[in-house]
Amino acid sequence: MAQLRFTFGTMGSGKSTQALQIHHNLRARGLTTILTTQLDRAEGRVSSRLGVSAEAELADPGTDLFEMVRRRMARLGSVDAVICDEVQFYSPNQCEQLARVVDDLAVDVYAFGLLTSFQGELFPGTARMLELADQRTEIQVEARCWCGSRATHNARFVDGEQVVSGQLKVVGDTSGPASGEVTYDLLCRSHWMDGARRARGSQLELLDADDARSPNTDEDHSGPVEVDPAAVPTPLKANDR
Ligand SMILES: [Zn+2]
Repeated sequence: MAQLRFTFGTMGSGKSTQALQIHHNLRARGLTTILTTQLDRAEGRVSSRLGVSAEAELADPGTDLFEMVRRRMARLGSVDAVICDEVQFYSPNQCEQLARVVDDLAVDVYAFGLLTSFQGELFPGTARMLELADQRTEIQVEARCWCGSRATHNARFVDGEQVVSGQLKVVGDTSGPASGEVTYDLLCRSHWMDGARRARGSQLELLDADDARSPNTDEDHSGPVEVDPAAVPTPLKANDR
């Protein structure tokens, strides 16, 4: 029976390497596979940090993955497996299309993706894959935070400062001249949360700075307060009636 398998991990945990390995192993047995990825650094390729890569179909947000596989089956006679990288960027709808590839076309799907974003939350595609998959596997790779603890969280930095707001999908070097250099690193939860708190704090400081721009903020309110008697309501007295 065909299955929907979802394998997730942090950046650098070897997801693409595993995707490429499965792709290679099945092809070596003469099976027909489709390798897909979402727009990433390398257009139309799945690349492993270890230096291996293979051509892949680019699935943009508008791609109907079910239709893509169905048409390919019609052309090639059969498709044995679909291997998808960067599934965190697939829309929930596209994840459902992959489930239909398994159920209606009886084709195995191997999906790989990041668990959480730089904001520390599940990607929409990842959440849907966790809900739908027949098998969910976390890649256990010994990645370390700079402090030596196990690194479990993806952090985004702009000009070296951790950020928690911004678009989910930003690849380094794509920003215009106005924004800073975007980089990513792996942290332990504790240091990820330290950085996230600092980032939120500096956002609050920005808001405070906006307030400070309003007039009169620098006036000294610590002295005696003058009261305009006309502005104070006169207490009602019983004998006024
Ligand atoms: Zn740490």
